[in-house]
Amino acid sequence: MKPLVIANWKCNPTILKEAKRLFNSVKNGIKNIKNVEVVICPPFVYLPALRANGAQDCFWKEKGAFTGEVSPSMLKDIGCQYVIIGHSERRTLGETDQMINRKLKAALKEKLKPIFCLGETQQEREKGQTSNILESQIEKGLKKISKQEIKNLIIAYEPVWAIGTGNPCDIDTAQTMGLLIRKIITKLYSLSISENLRILYGGSVDRKNATDYVKEARLQGLLVGGASLDPKEFVQLIKNVSKT
Ligand code: PEP
Repeated sequence: MKPLVIANWKCNPTILKEAKRLFNSVKNGIKNIKNVEVVICPPFVYLPALRANGAQDCFWKEKGAFTGEVSPSMLKDIGCQYVIIGHSERRTLGETDQMINRKLKAALKEKLKPIFCLGETQQEREKGQTSNILESQIEKGLKKISKQEIKNLIIAYEPVWAIGTGNPCDIDTAQTMGLLIRKIITKLYSLSISENLRILYGGSVDRKNATDYVKEARLQGLLVGGASLDPKEFVQLIKNVSKT
């Protein structure tokens, strides 16, 4: 399975010209790399102009009176294949496990591949609650998602304390968390589903540490925020992953 590298641009950049420059620099920089799957998730407004393959969120209804929302069908129609769901920055803004569950189901129904983000806060880790938090996020987030559907879902382990802090999770912990997530998935689904599930790591990934998560922690890819906004850094990160 090819490693998967997802760029989460968050609320950047502020002008379309800059978004095009960033997107095209990355596209040109990686055009000869065939053994890494790259997904770029810009803000919604840039999606049609860039023809990017990923989005940062979606709503759970297909259409209707939901001011400001963007539905999975709309994303699918403009060529998106992937959608990030449940990012900790959205959870901080009030998104609950139940809302995330509805979004995951809606995205899967539309045959989008959701990147389901989960992870503990610093405080939860310090209190020894990490396993319980991950288990609860997974159980609630995946409620009523079938064995068939889950095959199209990707999990991103993103400890909240590592996101945008320059303080990445150490490789052993990332590997342990990956194994824990697989154990929970085995319990909820089956061993073969868990073995085939792609689990990514996200949190202060850069070109220097990227390969360790893939090669040593044996995770199937990365979710990259800050480093994906610098085309040189991001292209080098992908090149490094391609050599693992
Ligand atoms: C993210 O946005 O999911 C993320 C991991 O950000 P950063 O790489 O900046 O820590």
